[in-house]
Amino acid sequence: MAFIEMKDIVKTYGSSVVLHGVSLSMEKGQVVSIIGPSGAGKSTFLRCLNHLEIIQKGSICINGQYLARMDAEGNSVYAPEKEMRKICLNMGMVFQNYAIFPHMSVRDNVAFGLKNRKVPQDQIESQVDEILKVVKIDHLKKRMPSKLSGGQQQRVALARAIVIHPEVLLMDEPLSNLDAKLRVEMRNAIKRIQQQVGITTIYVTHDQEEALAVSDRIAVMNGGVIQQIDTPKNVYQRPSNIFVSTFIGLSNIMDGRIEARDGQTLLHIGDYSVPMENLSRSAQDGQAVKVSIRPEEFIISREDSGGIPAVVRSSVFLGITTHYFVETADGREMEVIQNSDIWDIIPDHTPIRLGVQPHKINVFTEDGSQSLIVRRDHS
Ligand code: ADP
Repeated sequence: MAFIEMKDIVKTYGSSVVLHGVSLSMEKGQVVSIIGPSGAGKSTFLRCLNHLEIIQKGSICINGQYLARMDAEGNSVYAPEKEMRKICLNMGMVFQNYAIFPHMSVRDNVAFGLKNRKVPQDQIESQVDEILKVVKIDHLKKRMPSKLSGGQQQRVALARAIVIHPEVLLMDEPLSNLDAKLRVEMRNAIKRIQQQVGITTIYVTHDQEEALAVSDRIAVMNGGVIQQIDTPKNVYQRPSNIFVSTFIGLSNIMDGRIEARDGQTLLHIGDYSVPMENLSRSAQDGQAVKVSIRPEEFIISREDSGGIPAVVRSSVFLGITTHYFVETADGREMEVIQNSDIWDIIPDHTPIRLGVQPHKINVFTEDGSQSLIVRRDHS
């Protein structure tokens, strides 16, 4: 059994179902991010794990100990109060609003959980010192929270959560109150600390870059359902449906049609035809599909060399890359990102062709609910 096993979790508030049978299993030491739009159910799911929310159906097991089991009907039966408290005491939590005590110094804030656990005084001192070094605020030990910056306060919250050596660390949008630069700095710090201390961590965020940066795996959630759980690379390169494809990164979505003939499969996007070698067998001759191509996967050509015909409408030079906003012959607006060539930004109104390498294309059923690509996993 995995270190964390959450199975078929159903959570309702009155008559509204917020989690529709969500499952997640994690190995010890892993970091899984839960990402999705606001209202997707991310926080609720996280809070089920340490009993801040009560589930109606499903089971939760951490390190072989059941917080909740399923009875014959799948309804959740919680462990006795004392056992639950023991399990939950082994979890640290960091929220977006830090929740550090304003009337206590950095040292006292971090020592709080240790005191509660009746750790001897001399050990408290050395453990506090050690963890403050890890989060790089050891020089601020005597400061009061009001004299700390947002990033420093967040480090105190993090230190306080990990000083108790929790088995599981739960983080709910821990960086969303920080400015963009500090967020990047802190997410790198979190990644480094995580690698150093190796706590099994679930990290809720709505920021996809943050999720890509800190996680071993990403769970993309929408409407109380995990749409895909996979490595950051797979979620980005091989999304399992159109929601994931458009939620993580930018995607251009087009209509396509499959032609399967004489053992060869072609994908038609308007007049452009691409031979495909990785379509699933369920893709039928004549089937209408949705095609998804990342802006950076297009290859712009100014010659009539095959590809989707389009016209450059405008462009934005962003240093390393230039973004082109183009319009295809059928009136579809698309975004194309190319590495910048300072000598040559393609002028507006230029007719172009958009080519793409077949293996960079994602193909979905027409309703967008399923990928028609057979994945070759290298991860
Ligand atoms: P997220 O973290 O993805 O933004 P939440 O887990 O906070 O989403 O919320 C999921 C859904 O549950 C939302 O529709 C929200 O309105 C609803 N919800 C959350 N908490 C409560 C509550 N205490 N009572 C009723 N509905 C709630």
